[in-house]
Amino acid sequence: MTTNEESARTEREKDYLSIDPFDGDFGDGMSCHTYRMVTTRTAHLCVGLDPDHAHELPAGSRARVDRWIEEGEGWMTQYRCVEALEADMKELDGEKEQDALQ
Ligand SMILES: [Zn+2]
Repeated sequence: MTTNEESARTEREKDYLSIDPFDGDFGDGMSCHTYRMVTTRTAHLCVGLDPDHAHELPAGSRARVDRWIEEGEGWMTQYRCVEALEADMKELDGEKEQDALQ
């Protein structure tokens, strides 16, 4: 999607947008998924990719924001900080290395 590409400032940020935070589970009752990199204007809760990660993300942070509609709930929004995205990228890179070794 061009809008997603345009919102990423670096190659690394494009990699962040390739992460699937739903692990392939996006589907039942969920629709209109959009995601992009933003600079936050106000503080948000960062949910990371692990429930233990949750913390406040200060205004002015680069973050990935995912929005989607959940049936019966309406619009859902999740923010993830660069630190969390970077940790996930490292995990993915590690998996790739593992695959290459096998
Ligand atoms: Zn975070």
